[in-house]
Amino acid sequence: MPSWTRLIRDVADFPRPGIVFKDITPVLADAAAFDAVLEALAAPWRETPIDAVLAIEARGFIFGAPLARALGAGFVPIRKPGKLPGRTLSQRYALEYGHDTLELQADALPIGARVLLVDDVLATGGTLKAARTLAERAEADIVGAAVLIELTALGGRARWQSDAPLQAVLSM
Ligand code: AMP
Repeated sequence: MPSWTRLIRDVADFPRPGIVFKDITPVLADAAAFDAVLEALAAPWRETPIDAVLAIEARGFIFGAPLARALGAGFVPIRKPGKLPGRTLSQRYALEYGHDTLELQADALPIGARVLLVDDVLATGGTLKAARTLAERAEADIVGAAVLIELTALGGRARWQSDAPLQAVLSM
């Protein structure tokens, strides 16, 4: 395991009882660890033509923007409701802790744009699936998904159901 993994902090019962929250803020605060994480996220996609990184608010943005730059791609935010101006596509979904909705600007991507979905943690997979549905509704070509941490016990990968690769830097 890479040395930065020791910087991931397990926080019990956050934000709700029964959830073991993976706190990545110590990884972000360490320059060498943050750099190593970004390198590891980018590595599987260096040879893949990508028009845009679609990152999920909020922690997905932390990785999505530098990843877009590393891959020579644009950055398109998938946001919580009411944050994006203009016409939006909206997708409601179930979370490990509750429900939420994600939105994408309807004109953010040209039809057929090659997109990579990015988030920090894959838990039950509902968030990533909602993001993928938004990208599909925008008629994008989804080349894959990249997450920093996959929580394998929660089975989120089973909900990906796509031929496009889902790459996790760390499965735990
Ligand atoms: P899910 O839709 O269940 O795959 O949840 C993924 C989303 O919720 C990601 O955007 C994560 O930031 C967040 N999340 C869910 N579970 C955790 C966890 N145990 N630790 C940290 N973040 C989590």
